[in-house]
Amino acid sequence: MSTALAVKGLDAAIDGKQILNDLSIEVPFGEIHALMGPNGSGKSTLCHVLTGKREYEVLDGTVAVDGRDIMTLDVDERSRVGLLQSFQYPTEVPGVRLREFLLEAADERGIPADEAEARLNEEARRFGMEPFLDRSLNEDLSGGEKKRSEIFQMAVLRPRMAMLDEIDSGLDIDAVKQVAEAVEGMRSPELGVLIITHYSRILRYLTPDRIHVMIDGRIVDSGGKELAEELEAGGYEAVRERLGIERPTTDEPTKKPADFFTDTPFDV
Ligand code: ADP
Ligand code: MG
Repeated sequence: MSTALAVKGLDAAIDGKQILNDLSIEVPFGEIHALMGPNGSGKSTLCHVLTGKREYEVLDGTVAVDGRDIMTLDVDERSRVGLLQSFQYPTEVPGVRLREFLLEAADERGIPADEAEARLNEEARRFGMEPFLDRSLNEDLSGGEKKRSEIFQMAVLRPRMAMLDEIDSGLDIDAVKQVAEAVEGMRSPELGVLIITHYSRILRYLTPDRIHVMIDGRIVDSGGKELAEELEAGGYEAVRERLGIERPTTDEPTKKPADFFTDTPFDV
């Protein structure tokens, strides 16, 4: 059986600066993996490279989704193969109802209208999203409701490989717990999930099959529960120390001014 996601030896750059270094990661169908790493380690870059954002230059490596090489495909083709990324900061789209938005997205993916309608109603019931279907997309939703809405959208679209970037950012602890339960509710033999975060707290409520730690654009360690415990207790510093990875010369990685606006402003 093929793997949901197989990345091998990926090197990628933006603006001439190499961000991903010989990165390899595999997510089998039916599993939920966590990709954890400090701010600026390249987690979102990995998502953007995989979804096919133009600004990124792929220098080397291969990426397969459901056994299909996707690197030669454009953004839309990749989503039809079944790769889906949730948005780090869901935008509010006044005037477009969640129901219309989702039926349109389903149509783009070649899901027949009656099938889409049936899934939409079934999943709305399961995720408690019925009250939101006829409201504007994301408008006036709390942080936790927006994330739940994203997971609900994925449940309707049924990707083969889902990447959830910063799924727990800016949420209070009750919402983190709800989001973790919703992710667990997505688990299916037809789907691979990669949850991406720099906080370890979501791991209190969710047990991924595997945890990968990313530092400076490469996966430095992968493991199970024991890795979650190490991160919870000693943060990335403990992992760096154990593996003998030197700290960068500056405390914070260089960020463009615009990055500060899209970074999570606080931890709860
Ligand atoms: P993470 O999601 O792990 O916080 P990112 O993938 O957002 O990390 O960023 C990884 C590195 O890439 C950071 O050092 C960041 O400054 C750099 N980076 C991101 N976008 C650009 C860009 N457009 N030009 C140059 N460097 C960038
Ligand atoms: Mg990020």
